[in-house]
Amino acid sequence: MPGLFPLVPSMPRHTADTTNVTGLAQAGGRVLRPRTTAQVQRIVRLANRRGWTINPVSTGLNYGYGGTSPVRPTDIQLDLGRMTSIRNAAEISRGNPVAVIEPGVTQQALYAWLQQHHPDLAFNVTGSARETSIIGNALDRGVGYFGPRREDLFGLEVITGTGELIHTGFRRLGESSPLAHSHPYGLGPILDGLFFQGNCGIVTSACFRLVPRRPRAVAVSLGLREGKSLAPFIDRLAELKREAVMDSVTHIGNRQRSNASLMYGITTYLEQQCGRTPQAAAVEAKEALALVAKGEWTSLGAVTGSAAQVRANLAEVRKRIGDIATVRELSEEKLALGYRIMHALRFFRAARANAAAIAAIRPLHVLALGQPTDAAIDNLLWRYGRSDLPATQLDRTSCGLIFINPALPMNGALVEALVRELEEVARPFELYMTINIETATSLVAVINLLFNRDDAAESAAARKTADALHAHLRARQLEVYRARADMMESVVDPADPYWQAVGAIKHALDPNGVIAPGRYSP
Ligand SMILES: Cc1cc2nc3c(=O)[nH]c(=O)nc-3n(C[C@H](O)[C@H](O)[C@H](O)COP(=O)(O)OP(=O)(O)OC[C@H]3O[C@@H](n4cnc5c(N)ncnc54)[C@H](O)[C@@H]3O)c2cc1C
Repeated sequence: MPGLFPLVPSMPRHTADTTNVTGLAQAGGRVLRPRTTAQVQRIVRLANRRGWTINPVSTGLNYGYGGTSPVRPTDIQLDLGRMTSIRNAAEISRGNPVAVIEPGVTQQALYAWLQQHHPDLAFNVTGSARETSIIGNALDRGVGYFGPRREDLFGLEVITGTGELIHTGFRRLGESSPLAHSHPYGLGPILDGLFFQGNCGIVTSACFRLVPRRPRAVAVSLGLREGKSLAPFIDRLAELKREAVMDSVTHIGNRQRSNASLMYGITTYLEQQCGRTPQAAAVEAKEALALVAKGEWTSLGAVTGSAAQVRANLAEVRKRIGDIATVRELSEEKLALGYRIMHALRFFRAARANAAAIAAIRPLHVLALGQPTDAAIDNLLWRYGRSDLPATQLDRTSCGLIFINPALPMNGALVEALVRELEEVARPFELYMTINIETATSLVAVINLLFNRDDAAESAAARKTADALHAHLRARQLEVYRARADMMESVVDPADPYWQAVGAIKHALDPNGVIAPGRYSP
């Protein structure tokens, strides 16, 4: 096949390792790493002729959803991580806040590029690793701190299952059309949706919405007071979202999640900056944790705008929610000042606890302001004794992590009741949970089980529990908003007319079933 060499020098060569934190993996086949759209097209055409199947991944850090594992074994793992261009770099500006990116453009790469060239532009970041792909995450319908990533991506360049190159929206008019990178919908049926949580094509570039930075942005931490109920907390935060007082995605984390997010930062500070022994640090860490995550539920969101808008919105948040939750403004200046003072006084135990708490919060609160961080993954690496590894290597540890993430209505009472039921179903496992105020009408809960993947019995129990949690959701006529590779069979019902229609569209765009068989389709 001319032009494919050296991409396909011989079959097979380097086989994909699809081991991942869920503990469940299918063979990914041989790894191919194209650099251009034309190479992707040639691979797909060749696959059609040879009867190969392909699993595309962008950076493959889909932690908790199956990593690089396909749903069914594939012949080729198409690793798009080498496609790293910001194609319209020269045209990006505050007046033209759209980046045309390739799948290998990571959160960190775009953030660093913007910091250098357009520090007045930001984008919707997720809490996962800095080196995760923006396109990969968006295509799996990931959720960032500003909103669902689905809403940020349009104008897709796609190689369909037959090897055709198509552009969605007005990108079909050509890259030089004034509409190509600006109008998100185009004319006629919006095809974009087929490629999100789908398997009809391979996305090789897309328009990604950037966000002009507001004059002032502060992260807001809210702590539900002991004894207060979750339901009104959710309902009032929902109101604040609908009225655009807090228009970020407010993440409401349970105690387990808050502890897991902060323990690493707190303990490392106590050990490394204060010379505490691991035993002493463990005792003092609890005191530090109590300072920042007192109650059962703690949340992180953001308020942005002019200085006057931020002041007014913060006052509104306090007025609406202050009776049931503590409201703390977390600006970098405040945290830096607090840290300087408390760190200087660290020989006092109470000051040490405060400094440790601030040290742990600092890398996390920036998420709400549009800065990616490895903090959440670093916490897991630390917990599983592999702080030596980078955040891209979590799958190489003994960490076991399974997500079961329900889509939910904006209804505090329903959510509170469901949370209690799920906790009951999960016992003796603890659930690590955030409830995210995602849109003006809906929520998603991000729920994971943590287990030791080296322990076969614990892994089996975790999987059984995950199945029971999913069954419970379905019994309540609910469903997950994003599925793990290993749960596709239970999510996709071939007898359901909806999935039959999806199957018919898949057949039209990929008649030989080349791309990611079984992924969100029968
Ligand atoms: C502690 C922790 C925190 C996390 N926080 C978040 C969070 O805040 N928000 C969130 O959404 N997730 C989060 N995650 C989950 C996950 O790590 C991220 O969603 C991550 O961005 C997904 O990996 P990726 O970007 O490398 O995508 P990939 O793994 O590259 O892609 C995901 C899937 O999309 C499909 N796909 C990818 N690229 C293409 C393409 N070009 N064409 C066609 N199909 C494609 C493939 O099926 C692939 O398996 C978190 C996980 C952990 C453990």
